Order: sequence, then structure tokens, then C-alpha cells
Amino acid sequence: MADFVTRFAPSPTGRLHRGHALSALTAWTAARAAGGRFLLRIEDIDPTRCKPEFETGILDDLDWLGLDRDGPVRRQSDHLHEYAGVVDVLDRRGLLYRCFRTRREILDAIGDAPHGPADAARPGPHPAEEEAALLAGGRPFAWRLSLDRARAALGDRAWAQLSFVEEGAGPDGERGLIPARPETAGDVVLARKDAGTAYHVAVTHDDALHGVTHVIRGHDLFEATHVQVLIQALMGWPTPVYRHHPLLLDASGRRLAKRDKAETLQSLRERGMDPAQLRAELGF
Ligand code: GLU
Repeated sequence: MADFVTRFAPSPTGRLHRGHALSALTAWTAARAAGGRFLLRIEDIDPTRCKPEFETGILDDLDWLGLDRDGPVRRQSDHLHEYAGVVDVLDRRGLLYRCFRTRREILDAIGDAPHGPADAARPGPHPAEEEAALLAGGRPFAWRLSLDRARAALGDRAWAQLSFVEEGAGPDGERGLIPARPETAGDVVLARKDAGTAYHVAVTHDDALHGVTHVIRGHDLFEATHVQVLIQALMGWPTPVYRHHPLLLDASGRRLAKRDKAETLQSLRERGMDPAQLRAELGF
């Protein structure tokens, strides 16, 4: 039965910690309670940060937690051409423009999910002559989605109706029917000529491909939903229901993060923790 389809979509940039366990358990429990499907998607579109051994680690950790998956694991790096195809469709509709900011600025804006507030840059297209000169000079560029052109393409009426249903809660307790505000993220970077496609494209493409009905994830991705709803509308994809959940915080009240060396599930396991104990600790 596939009336309810959800997924766990980690990026293999490190080993999973308790925060990931909470997300995976929330999604898995919801799928099982609904008699639905729980999919696993490896979001490894950023080749500089993702490593195959972390993917293996994710599978081991989910097995240890007892979270069985439905269907094959989707590895995004095996499908880059599909995401490039989406960018191509949007480009051919004239919705994108080239941005020649520095390599670092663009790389920072691509690949990984934007946990936390988005960079609302809207540099706008370069004047044609300037652009031609930059291209002739071989300057690398990224494709940004123009909010102005997206709005013109959808029409004011459809634009005003962009929205999603939040069954969990955003960071400020947002719930129910949420009007989408794609402008909070600015003209997002959707692709870079030589570094593939950005997170927002891959995530919305795969959710649509797999018929995901419920996106269950931490509320640090609540803001990302606004631009994802816009991409869904532009591509004619359905908007799933969203259930953002609160984040696990460390002792100082900050989100558990790989970069802060949050204790990994691997290390809990090696310390002899029983998975049932962790599930109980996380409220399952
Ligand atoms: N891959 C993203 C992350 O590591 C999650 C994407 C999503 O759930 O939409 O946080």
C-alpha cells in the first residue's frame, strides 16, 4: 500500500548522530503506523564532502536501529543527469540567469542542504555585453532561478496561492496551511556549470519521482520548503505534506551537528548501548 510514502534523506558527509536517529525514527514510525513506505535516499551530490564509507555507515546504523527500508536505496550521484535535465527544462523556459560570483561563494550555495537561514542573494542578470565578455573570458558561472521570471511564468494568481501544509511545526511553531515565501531565499543557485545541480533540484525531483506524500525532516529545513514549493509548481510536481520536527539540541542549546563532533551512533554502539535504549531516550 503506497498511500503514504516518506523518506530519510541523509547526506553521507559523516557518521550519523542522535539527531539523524530522531529524524529516521520519526519518518519510519510514521510510515509503519500508516501502513506506508519508508524510503532511503543518499544525498551525495556534493563530491567534495560525501564519502562512500559514510554511506555504508548509514546503512549499518539504520540496521542497528532496526529501521527496515522499502525499495532500493536511491543514490543521487547515480542520477546527476536527471537533475541536469530539470535545470535544462527551467533554462529553456527562460527562468534562469548566469551568475559569475566567485567559485567559493557558489560552492557554498550548492550541494548541501541549507540548514538554517538562507542567503537571500538576488544579484540579477548581468547586462548582455558584460555577460558576453565574462563568458568569453572563460569565467565560471552558476545558474540562478529568477524569482521575477518565475512569478511571471506562473502568473500572479498562482504565485499568491503557492503554499504547503505543515503537519509538524516550523521553528516558530508555524503549522497548518503555510503561504510559501520563496523570496526569503532570494534567487537560489540551482546549478553550477562544472559542479552539477543544487540540493533543491535533487530533493524536489526525487520526492516527485518516488511519489513521496509526506516529507518528514528537522525544522532546520523548514525555510528550504518555500523555494522547494516554487520548484514543484514550476515543474508541475505535487507538493507533499510536510512534517518538520524539532531538533535535538546539545547541552549548550545548539543543533547537534557533524562539524561539532556530536557523538556518532557508531560510537554509541561501540560503547555497548542497546538500540532499544536509544529509541527510548529519543521518545520511541
Ligand atoms: N540531505 C539533507 C540533509 O542532510 C536532507 C534533505 C531533506 O530531508 O529534504 O539534511
